Amino acid sequence: MKELIDRLVRPEIRALNAYHVPEAAGLIKLDAMENPYVWPESLKTEWLDALRDVALNRYPDPSGRALQETLREAMEIPSDMGLLLGNGSDELIQMLALTVAQPGNPLRTGPSASLRTGILSLDPGFVMYRMIGLFAGMDYVGVPLQADDFSIDLPATLDAIARAQPALIYLAYPNNPTGNRFDADDMVRIIEAAPGLVIVDEAYSPFTDSSFLGLLGDWPNLLVMRTVSKMGLAGLRLGYLVGPPAWLQEIDKVRLPYNVNVLTQASATFALRHKAVMDEQTRAIRIERTHLFESLTRIECLHAYPSEANFILVRVPEGRADSLFSGLRERGILIKNLHGTHPLLRDCLRITVGLPEENAALMAALTDLL
Ligand code: PMP
Repeated sequence: MKELIDRLVRPEIRALNAYHVPEAAGLIKLDAMENPYVWPESLKTEWLDALRDVALNRYPDPSGRALQETLREAMEIPSDMGLLLGNGSDELIQMLALTVAQPGNPLRTGPSASLRTGILSLDPGFVMYRMIGLFAGMDYVGVPLQADDFSIDLPATLDAIARAQPALIYLAYPNNPTGNRFDADDMVRIIEAAPGLVIVDEAYSPFTDSSFLGLLGDWPNLLVMRTVSKMGLAGLRLGYLVGPPAWLQEIDKVRLPYNVNVLTQASATFALRHKAVMDEQTRAIRIERTHLFESLTRIECLHAYPSEANFILVRVPEGRADSLFSGLRERGILIKNLHGTHPLLRDCLRITVGLPEENAALMAALTDLL
């Protein structure tokens, strides 16, 4: 069996571990950038009533038309732009790769034979850009961010773009796991220098006031990707891509039929019609982010990086990240340990903003451990 597996599975896949999610039962969960708030009982009842008529025996509407209409209105999507739904934005990242990847094909001739079809992004960044590129057989170039504040190193980035000629460039705005929002002028320089598509990933848009959505159409190679995960609907798995219709028509061709299931379509449509509830939760998270940042900053030996997302990156004293992570876990608090994942994240932990009492428990445990 092993011999057959070795023969059939590509070495780069053999070398991987499956995506690991740590066990979180019974823990205060501050590891995954989720919204900690639940819905009021009355809204839950109304939602369950809305699900009563969902036809489970039928396949979903293939492109989720009702949901698309509601999304357009709720998220103020420009009417001349196309919209494509994914099973989380992870699936959209996969669709983008499948659309442009050109795995080595000895039969390929003509103008596309010598095209470089890699992915470029800024590191440390969201790992799925690189992972999905690897699944699709695409090269990945990660340009290091500036070490002191994780801003864009523009000369290095423009140089890397010129050399790699990437088909896809991902810019997370704000960035995960660093939490900062890149300079918009730097982003524009990258969009203008890019030989291929630039996807501005606005997964954390509920927590910042800046967006590229209104700039769509200014450049033919700009797409904006978003998700409902961080606004309080992570369990539904729904992401959306916005951009020029001609691009989205192509990407739509690699979408699996019925990729957004009936329960997600119905629940997201319902939720977006009650978006005010989630907007209120988002406001509370933003206020808590300020409190948490101030509390972390008061501990002298910590460095908290300013965040426009729903998490805060913290650098702890040298050599302490692993013990602080496990100490917090023993005290019932799960965060993300980034130490060892990238040279620029040495001694770094990422803390998702939780409920006020969860953040207070974190601060008490952290103070105790330090
Ligand atoms: N983009 C960024 C920058 C993220 O941090 C995440 C989630 N961690 C995603 C996309 C994926 O979100 P989704 O839940 O929609 O797959």
